[in-house]
Amino acid sequence: MERTLVLVKPDALQRSLIGQILQRFERKGLKLVGMKMMSLSDAILREHYAHLADKPFFAGLAKFMKSTPVIVMCWEGVEVVSTVRLLCGITKSREADTGSIRGDFAMSVSCNVVHASDSVATAEKEIQRFFSKDELFEYDKTEYAHVYSDDEM
Ligand code: UDP
Ligand code: MG
Repeated sequence: MERTLVLVKPDALQRSLIGQILQRFERKGLKLVGMKMMSLSDAILREHYAHLADKPFFAGLAKFMKSTPVIVMCWEGVEVVSTVRLLCGITKSREADTGSIRGDFAMSVSCNVVHASDSVATAEKEIQRFFSKDELFEYDKTEYAHVYSDDEM
């Protein structure tokens, strides 16, 4: 089953939004298979945001991402990578769809409350980057029978 990585960013911690953000993924019917709090190092941020390393905002972004610990979550579900991107909304929060996390909770491009993996290949790398094997779990979620039809599973 597909898995994706979500970070709840420092602005969400400062604004006491962790519970409301987690609830968005839970109520959609996704399965939580890993979760922890951690402080991000320069090394992990350089790797995680390698595609942005030459951007003028990179130093500010790294400073922001280190300003508090973050919540790291791994969610599982059918086509969960694209589903979670839709739940999060586009990067520029002011233009994110109402009903999405960024659309409902954020006004900024940089302080946009969540990170979500952007492809299945990226998700695999990001999950490995943030979780060790023993921090990820497999278990039966009984409500899955009501969340998906048989042919999707
Ligand atoms: N970011 C920023 N300024 C920009 C573009 C991005 O501060 O002009 C930050 C923002 O926090 C964003 C992160 O860099 O979420 C990663 O950028 P990406 O383009 O990967 O967007 P995302 O995948 O998070 O929507
Ligand atoms: Mg991205």
